[in-house]
Amino acid sequence: MNIDKLNSLLSDQPTYRFKQIKQLIFRDLIDDWSQATVLPLSLREELNKEISLRINGQSVSSKDGDSTKSLITFEDGLKIETVLMIHAGGRRTVCVSCQVGCPFGCAFCATGKIGFKRNLTPGEIIDQVLFFARLLKKKKKKITNIVFMGMGEPMLNYENVLEAIKILNDKDGFNLGIRHFSISTVGIVEGIRRLAEEPLQINLAISLHAPNNRLRTELIKVNEKYPIENMLRAVDYYTLKTNRKVMFEYVLIKDINDSDECAHELVRLMKKPLYFVNLIPYNPTGNFQSSLPERIKTFKDILMKSGVMTTQRYRFGDDIVGACGQLAGGVEHSNNQIDLSH
Ligand code: SAH
Ligand code: SF4
Repeated sequence: MNIDKLNSLLSDQPTYRFKQIKQLIFRDLIDDWSQATVLPLSLREELNKEISLRINGQSVSSKDGDSTKSLITFEDGLKIETVLMIHAGGRRTVCVSCQVGCPFGCAFCATGKIGFKRNLTPGEIIDQVLFFARLLKKKKKKITNIVFMGMGEPMLNYENVLEAIKILNDKDGFNLGIRHFSISTVGIVEGIRRLAEEPLQINLAISLHAPNNRLRTELIKVNEKYPIENMLRAVDYYTLKTNRKVMFEYVLIKDINDSDECAHELVRLMKKPLYFVNLIPYNPTGNFQSSLPERIKTFKDILMKSGVMTTQRYRFGDDIVGACGQLAGGVEHSNNQIDLSH
């Protein structure tokens, strides 16, 4: 949906009308202006001509039904992937993309392999959420969390990401609480500092993945520009300003970053009250192998015994290539059937 066009089209409408339209789009989740019967026919016709509510998506669900990956095609033909995850506790999280591709090309990430095409607009980010919200509405369910952990680096598309969050947080519209949004960054110092200045309680996650610069640069080339100590200084500024916890993501890759030594090194970095580690089993993207379950357990035990708060990420949707870091814009690569009914 083109938000700018919608705003300019409605600029001469009374405020109540604008509010009514926000409710139709974000609460009633209409997907066609013909459903907007509260609006005068002339306005409905104009909206129908100018603003498309159609979202071009193809979905595929994991065998257990806990995750659904959707390929969304935008007006210019470019595609991104987005994933809905249903957690055991009842949370329903959408993992959104903010760029087509990503310029950073981290060694373990499928998105990085396709290079960078362009930033998404706020409307294109929002469409990913609306797509799943409409789907869930049929089951009388709602989205509870939104994480910017799909394709792309949110700090490189800062304004549009924040604009999308503000619109989805708007209490007259989608009304998702600000603490239910998370941004994951590879560690862009300027972006972390900028987020620290926002009067918004958004969750911050940092893709750390290695406990020293030598190893981190091998996995994440941009670590040359933003070495660990500079990045952590920005994170400390963020925690000072916001007093919020920060999640450090650590993808465990067999024989690369999963040794006892790495765990002990990580402990030394993570000894701060608001830091916690989220261990992520590496999802195969070609280059490496996943750490074995016993290794993951030992690694986790070292962190926990040393007093580092540690959680472990449940692996969603690896049968639909929809797990973290596997998003590369191709539902067709999955073995499951594509469900075109949405
Ligand atoms: N660019 C941002 C956000 C998108 S990536 C970032 O890098 O943080 C979302 C998360 O998935 C990051 O923590 C990323 O490191 C992780 N990830 C990438 N490839 C992965 C893989 N193959 N297996 C598991 N996690 C992966
Ligand atoms: Fe980009 Fe994040 Fe993937 Fe690195 S891990 S290539 S920063 S999307």
